[in-house]
Amino acid sequence: MIKESAFNFIDGKRKELIGISDKAWEYAEVGLLETKTSKLFADWIEKQGFKLERGVADMPTAFVATWNNGPGPTIGLMGELDALQGLSQKAVPYKEPIKEGAPGHGCGHNIHGTTALAAAVAMKTAMEENKIGGTVKMFGCPAEETLVGKVWLVRHNLFNGVDAALSHHPGNSNTAGTGSSNAMNSFKVHFYGRTAHSAGDPENGISALDAVELMSNGVNFMREHIIEKARVHYVTEYGGGQPNVVPAYARVWYYVRAPEREQVEPIYNWVLQIADGADKMARTTHKIEFLTGCYNDLSNKTLADIIVANMREVGAPTHDEAEIKFAKELSKSIDPTQKKEGLRKSERPGWDKLVDELFDDRILDDYRNGKVGAGSTDVSDVSWVTPTNEFSTTTCILGTPGHSWQFTAQGGMSIGHKSLIFATKTMAGTGLDLITKPKLLKEAKTEFKKQLAGRKYNSPIPLDLKPPLKQF
Ligand SMILES: [Zn+2]
Repeated sequence: MIKESAFNFIDGKRKELIGISDKAWEYAEVGLLETKTSKLFADWIEKQGFKLERGVADMPTAFVATWNNGPGPTIGLMGELDALQGLSQKAVPYKEPIKEGAPGHGCGHNIHGTTALAAAVAMKTAMEENKIGGTVKMFGCPAEETLVGKVWLVRHNLFNGVDAALSHHPGNSNTAGTGSSNAMNSFKVHFYGRTAHSAGDPENGISALDAVELMSNGVNFMREHIIEKARVHYVTEYGGGQPNVVPAYARVWYYVRAPEREQVEPIYNWVLQIADGADKMARTTHKIEFLTGCYNDLSNKTLADIIVANMREVGAPTHDEAEIKFAKELSKSIDPTQKKEGLRKSERPGWDKLVDELFDDRILDDYRNGKVGAGSTDVSDVSWVTPTNEFSTTTCILGTPGHSWQFTAQGGMSIGHKSLIFATKTMAGTGLDLITKPKLLKEAKTEFKKQLAGRKYNSPIPLDLKPPLKQF
């Protein structure tokens, strides 16, 4: 059996794969600075016979690994690399950082990356052994957390020719996504004024902070008159040094989100006009620094069904006594209100229980309700250029907050390891289905065309914009 070759490969390499994931977990490098992680992944897959292009799309840590076995479909597997600031944590069920304040894998991207890496090689093994034509492309995607990596990869046409793309995200259930996410723009506004003594000669001062405050006031009035589902948030990053100096410079950082890309644009343009208005009121000037933007997700339901079928075929992992004990201990640190959040009582009876079962009915619910998650992801941009699905496997207990030390802890121990192996088999199995069953791939493509409904992907980032290689 074709898939057996892939699954045997994964079982045979189990220790090595866990080792790679744990190494990435230890490295815990933040977006666009994932030098060691990128090298670890790229070197390994190169040794397995893939052709490597490193430093693609103006990002030193991005890479594409390609293996071709003659004519056939091209399947793209996406693996993420980046960790999060301040989430360093040992693999223990209580808060204990490895290094206080250091980054940690609080979103499980060590597993995310390793899944794609290993699934790509497992697919290659099966295709070689069974003489199946086709191409496997593994994408080393940096800076997901800052919504950069895949937006630039798509901008540089690196997904051209990919017939379908798969992504795995560690989560708290075994399911494939069919909901959507918010499209977004991220940008900073730099205001410039003129300094003066705040008490001595304020009449000579032009306060850049006034402009920031007036702008944000304006935006807060705008809220009443935009679509309800839009989300606009900001932080004042710099507001001046001390009260007795009129701030000659101030800076505010904005996100504008909405369920559809075309809904982001008018709100964004309105915010820009409000910034102009703030200049008029405060007599300042300003500069817009556009950081990144992304689309809303077009999750492919056909791919979701194939993924769940593969999950069933592989069989979701169960957890032993030590893992349940770990989970129970860890759950003490989770706030009761968080524990309840998002849980449907009928499906999820115990928040302190690990989720072993497949909750594939959630897929149907999301599909029926047209659910739009409030967050944003750069997987969405891929979903506008090729049929795409991101699925989740149980890496953490119910109620675990996203981006938390609890998440980091679980991604570095056996609950995370089991999730990795399960996800790798699921991804490889799905990829092989798409290569060997043209009818399925065709269905996914027909659905994709329907989702686009004649609309075209226009990159949200300007042509000449380089990825922000320093942190923002
Ligand atoms: Zn993530």
